[in-house]
Amino acid sequence: MLKIFNTLTKKKEIFIPICEKIINIYVCGITVYDHCHIGHARTFTIFDMIIKYLRYCKYKVQYIRNITDIDDKIIKSAKLNNENIDLLTNRMIKSMNQDFLNLGLINPDFQPKVTNHIQDIISIINKLINKNYAYISKNGDVVFSISHCKNYGELSKQKINKLKFKNFIDYNNKICKNDFVLWKKLDQLDLPNWNSPWGIGRPGWHIECSAINHNFFGKNVDIHGGGVDLLFPHHENERAQSMCFYNVKNYGKYWIHVGSLLVNNKKMSKSLKNTVFLKNLLKLYNSEVIRYFFLLTHYRKPLLYNIKNLNSAYQSLRKLYIIINKIDNNVILNKKFYIKYQYFCTNFFNALHDDFNTPQAISILFSLLKKIKNLFNKDKKKIAIQLIYQLKYLANIIGLLNQDPNFFLKK
Ligand SMILES: [Zn+2]
Repeated sequence: MLKIFNTLTKKKEIFIPICEKIINIYVCGITVYDHCHIGHARTFTIFDMIIKYLRYCKYKVQYIRNITDIDDKIIKSAKLNNENIDLLTNRMIKSMNQDFLNLGLINPDFQPKVTNHIQDIISIINKLINKNYAYISKNGDVVFSISHCKNYGELSKQKINKLKFKNFIDYNNKICKNDFVLWKKLDQLDLPNWNSPWGIGRPGWHIECSAINHNFFGKNVDIHGGGVDLLFPHHENERAQSMCFYNVKNYGKYWIHVGSLLVNNKKMSKSLKNTVFLKNLLKLYNSEVIRYFFLLTHYRKPLLYNIKNLNSAYQSLRKLYIIINKIDNNVILNKKFYIKYQYFCTNFFNALHDDFNTPQAISILFSLLKKIKNLFNKDKKKIAIQLIYQLKYLANIIGLLNQDPNFFLKK
């Protein structure tokens, strides 16, 4: 039985899809104002592993990763570069796709851009206003009223009166200081902008994910994911909008959040100038080393990035590749041996079924490696080689040992 830790209930729950055998997964994607960094790489590698594993378990998965191509950061960055917004976002989308391809990630089934869903956004906001969940503030922005949403704060476990977060508009324009913007009113000269029933403007951040999810998946989504930094306010607000829009008490069956990534024990930030860009890292390390490094830590835990940890991941993965290199195609596989050593497989799958516990799964690959070495020492080459095939088979499930060992070991 597959168990997933649900941020909403803070418990490991047995995974039961909304619709049997088809799983809808929505992961909040990149805001394309700069190149992807290692934090993005971790989040999307984890979902890549999860989706690969679910597909291995014979689930049909529909995976959406949106692209935020309209946002304050994009506008600021375009101004700073003296670059047209479309040119900037297209350049960054191209860079992201190339980086993720080089990292070996599967493509999402859909990669919708927010600017292609403005009409969906407008129609959701319209309905929220009609249902009294949203109002037009004094400055003309359309704002979501969190006090009208009964379950607000449930996902990130917060009480409304203790909420702390940055506001996009002046408190005076809102009924409650924590109400958030759904539609930002703009002057005609502020670009980009779109027409709406409330005048010229552009969408706020959170509404895009409600609109895109509605458009592709309808009333609910099996797995909603993202980095833990998105839990509040982004996911709390998205859940609130969708619950109010559909008139339901819950939205998103399982919420999965990937832990933070610290660079030399510090949060990555522009001011600290410690951002590690994925494309630079891919020039120095084999993509599978980066993937392996991520999978060595449980996805919910914070990950400490530094060169020493990455190098030791390389050395550790190298040990597996050295043994893979001993595969001898002349050895005929015998089913009997698989049955005898079946417990390695059972333990491996138990680890992954337990909230995708990849560090545990990798430790089983190493006990298998130990067994293989023992068999070689005892001159039982044929059995050892059979087990190397098993090692490779298991590692492949989480996207490891996919490369030609000669290629990997040469680098
Ligand atoms: Zn989102």
